[in-house]
Amino acid sequence: MDPKKILVVDDSKLIHKMFEVMLRSHRLVHAEDGIDGIQKLAEHADIELILLDINMPRMNGLEFLREVKNDEALSTIPVVVVSTEGKDEDTERAMKLGATAYITKPFQSESILAIVSRLTMSGVS
Ligand SMILES: [Mg+2]
Repeated sequence: MDPKKILVVDDSKLIHKMFEVMLRSHRLVHAEDGIDGIQKLAEHADIELILLDINMPRMNGLEFLREVKNDEALSTIPVVVVSTEGKDEDTERAMKLGATAYITKPFQSESILAIVSRLTMSGVS
Protein backbone atom coordinates (compact mmCIF):
# COMPACT_ATOMS: atom_id res chain seq x y z
CA MET A 1 0.00 0.00 0.00
CA ASP A 2 1.25 3.44 -0.90
CA PRO A 3 1.82 5.69 2.07
CA LYS A 4 -0.90 8.30 2.23
CA LYS A 5 -0.19 11.98 2.10
CA ILE A 6 0.30 14.61 4.76
CA LEU A 7 -0.85 18.14 3.92
CA VAL A 8 1.32 20.92 5.36
CA VAL A 9 -0.46 24.30 5.47
CA ASP A 10 1.98 27.06 6.45
CA ASP A 11 3.12 30.40 5.03
CA SER A 12 6.72 29.81 6.15
CA LYS A 13 8.96 28.19 3.53
CA LEU A 14 11.36 27.21 6.31
CA ILE A 15 8.67 25.16 8.08
CA HIS A 16 7.93 23.32 4.83
CA LYS A 17 11.64 22.52 4.44
CA MET A 18 11.89 21.33 8.04
CA PHE A 19 8.93 18.98 7.60
CA GLU A 20 10.44 17.64 4.35
CA VAL A 21 13.56 16.67 6.30
CA MET A 22 11.82 15.41 9.43
CA LEU A 23 9.16 13.44 7.56
CA ARG A 24 11.23 12.19 4.64
CA SER A 25 9.57 8.76 4.62
CA HIS A 26 6.15 10.38 4.15
CA ARG A 27 4.59 11.97 1.08
CA LEU A 28 3.99 15.66 1.72
CA VAL A 29 1.66 18.05 -0.07
CA HIS A 30 2.45 21.74 0.45
CA ALA A 31 0.06 24.67 0.80
CA GLU A 32 1.05 28.26 1.60
CA ASP A 33 -2.20 29.41 3.24
CA GLY A 34 -5.73 28.26 4.03
CA ILE A 35 -7.12 28.93 0.57
CA ASP A 36 -4.30 26.98 -1.04
CA GLY A 37 -4.89 24.25 1.56
CA ILE A 38 -8.58 23.89 0.64
CA GLN A 39 -7.56 23.64 -3.01
CA LYS A 40 -4.94 20.96 -2.29
CA LEU A 41 -7.54 18.92 -0.35
CA ALA A 42 -9.73 18.99 -3.46
CA GLU A 43 -6.82 17.87 -5.65
CA HIS A 44 -5.58 15.07 -3.35
CA ALA A 45 -8.26 12.67 -2.09
CA ASP A 46 -5.73 10.57 -0.13
CA ILE A 47 -4.57 13.05 2.50
CA GLU A 48 -4.67 11.39 5.90
CA LEU A 49 -3.25 14.10 8.15
CA ILE A 50 -3.02 17.89 8.13
CA LEU A 51 -0.26 19.92 9.81
CA LEU A 52 -1.66 23.42 10.22
CA ASP A 53 -0.14 26.81 11.00
CA ILE A 54 -2.42 29.45 12.57
CA ASN A 55 -1.03 32.78 11.37
CA MET A 56 -1.27 33.00 7.58
CA PRO A 57 -2.42 35.59 5.02
CA ARG A 58 -5.67 35.27 3.02
CA MET A 59 -7.14 32.46 5.15
CA ASN A 60 -5.67 31.69 8.57
CA GLY A 61 -5.51 28.32 10.30
CA LEU A 62 -8.65 28.81 12.39
CA GLU A 63 -10.72 29.74 9.32
CA PHE A 64 -9.25 26.79 7.40
CA LEU A 65 -10.04 24.45 10.30
CA ARG A 66 -13.65 25.66 10.42
CA GLU A 67 -14.05 24.97 6.67
CA VAL A 68 -12.57 21.48 6.98
CA LYS A 69 -14.70 20.53 10.00
CA ASN A 70 -17.85 21.77 8.25
CA ASP A 71 -17.18 19.56 5.23
CA GLU A 72 -18.43 16.01 5.76
CA ALA A 73 -15.88 14.52 3.37
CA LEU A 74 -12.96 16.21 5.15
CA SER A 75 -14.04 16.44 8.77
CA THR A 76 -12.55 13.06 9.76
CA ILE A 77 -8.99 13.98 8.68
CA PRO A 78 -6.98 14.60 11.86
CA VAL A 79 -5.54 18.11 12.11
CA VAL A 80 -2.42 18.87 14.13
CA VAL A 81 -1.99 22.56 14.87
CA VAL A 82 1.58 23.85 14.74
CA SER A 83 1.29 26.74 17.15
CA THR A 84 3.63 29.49 18.26
CA GLU A 85 4.84 29.63 21.85
CA GLY A 86 2.81 32.10 23.92
CA LYS A 87 -0.22 31.90 21.59
CA ASP A 88 -2.23 29.64 23.91
CA GLU A 89 -5.52 31.34 23.05
CA ASP A 90 -5.18 30.40 19.38
CA THR A 91 -4.31 26.83 20.31
CA GLU A 92 -7.31 26.62 22.61
CA ARG A 93 -9.63 27.93 19.89
CA ALA A 94 -8.21 25.43 17.41
CA MET A 95 -8.80 22.54 19.82
CA LYS A 96 -12.38 23.74 20.35
CA LEU A 97 -12.88 23.84 16.58
CA GLY A 98 -11.91 20.17 16.38
CA ALA A 99 -8.12 19.99 16.03
CA THR A 100 -6.84 16.58 17.14
CA ALA A 101 -3.56 17.70 18.69
CA TYR A 102 -1.04 20.50 18.67
CA ILE A 103 2.70 20.97 18.80
CA THR A 104 4.42 24.17 19.79
CA LYS A 105 7.16 25.86 17.75
CA PRO A 106 10.08 25.39 18.08
CA PHE A 107 9.60 21.63 18.00
CA GLN A 108 11.94 18.63 17.87
CA SER A 109 11.76 16.08 15.09
CA GLU A 110 11.06 13.36 17.72
CA SER A 111 7.84 15.04 18.81
CA ILE A 112 6.56 15.53 15.27
CA LEU A 113 7.46 11.96 14.35
CA ALA A 114 5.69 10.62 17.43
CA ILE A 115 2.52 12.54 16.67
CA VAL A 116 2.55 11.65 12.96
CA SER A 117 3.03 7.94 13.63
CA ARG A 118 0.26 8.00 16.21
CA LEU A 119 -2.19 9.59 13.77
CA THR A 120 -1.34 7.94 10.46
CA MET A 121 -1.79 4.41 9.11
CA SER A 122 1.87 4.31 8.08
CA GLY A 123 2.78 4.51 11.73
CA VAL A 124 0.64 1.56 12.76
CA SER A 125 2.71 -1.15 11.01
MG1 LIG B 1 2.57 31.56 9.78
